[in-house]
Amino acid sequence: MAFVDERDVVILGSGPAGLTAALYAARANLRPLVLKGIDAGGQLMLTTEVENYPGFPNAILGPELMERMEKQAARFEAELLHQEATRVDLTSSAFRIWSGDEEWTARAVIVATGAKARMLGLDSERRLLGHGVSTCATCDGFFFRGQELLVVGGGDSALEEALFLTRFATKVTVVHRRDSLRASKIMQERAFAHDKIEFAWDSVVEEILGDGQVAGARLRNVRTAEARDIAAGGIFVAIGHTPNTSLFEGQLEMSNGYLVVQEPTTRTSVEGVFAAGDVVDFIYRQAITAAGMGCQAAIDAERFLESRGR
Ligand code: NAP
Repeated sequence: MAFVDERDVVILGSGPAGLTAALYAARANLRPLVLKGIDAGGQLMLTTEVENYPGFPNAILGPELMERMEKQAARFEAELLHQEATRVDLTSSAFRIWSGDEEWTARAVIVATGAKARMLGLDSERRLLGHGVSTCATCDGFFFRGQELLVVGGGDSALEEALFLTRFATKVTVVHRRDSLRASKIMQERAFAHDKIEFAWDSVVEEILGDGQVAGARLRNVRTAEARDIAAGGIFVAIGHTPNTSLFEGQLEMSNGYLVVQEPTTRTSVEGVFAAGDVVDFIYRQAITAAGMGCQAAIDAERFLESRGR
């Protein structure tokens, strides 16, 4: 029979939520195990400068911030494995977690598996991500002062990003694949009324242009098949997010794919399982809010274990 390692706390994910949970759980002497996942470090690994994480007045690179968080958790003896949980069984109080053939049991689990921004799937998009291609206006808008920008998408996120970007940009063009928006009426009215916002209707981004830095995009009108190049210093992809929750399907309560927690706690629908960060939060999606929730989840887990006589 395979060796099964028994743990008090297993944390799934290593973005700001998972690593902050690890830091707090480790300092509470719970010897947490962190399964970092394949995309270790989470979405901040895809960003360049982070200027809005408190404590770094001169900004810090996303990957460096994550490296520091990991070191800080490891300093207090959190054990971090570069492995992904491939299966979980949360039906009995000794929760079971597998990574391939390896298995652990845990008395408490913290899910911090995050979310992925949906992308267009273009090679040029991958190449220029962090070099003018962004999925977060709140994070990166500031870098595009005085430039013309594109936002892709027709939902609330796209219009919210477009409206936010008007603070910095000279013009924002929203590129949408249909001729009507999915966004709420109020957001539509705001966007239509804004003199810096224009729309490229029935249009898809066929190619992001630029060598090392975004210079524009080639748009294709899906009705006329006509292509045109449009200049832009940045392109914000805002076509939605997908939370990483497939592992928990049928085991934890979800809403629109996101894990549901009993606010203001991080308790999920299964006692002893907690969730934090973008796997729960579809509103704020910031590193600092995820870190805050990770801290809450560790404290919730600690109290849960204490109530169980740990
Ligand atoms: P969403 O509502 O799913 O909208 C995604 C948009 O992207 C749609 O317009 C969709 O086009 C487009 N899209 C999807 N895949 C695409 C592709 N491959 N190429 C081009 N366009 C593509 O996502 P969201 O805007 O992120 O919103 C998610 C949820 O959060 C919604 O319930 C929303 O109301 C909520 N939200 C609310 C606020 C707010 O109230 N302030 C802000 C942000 C989000 P189609 O329309 O053609 O499908």
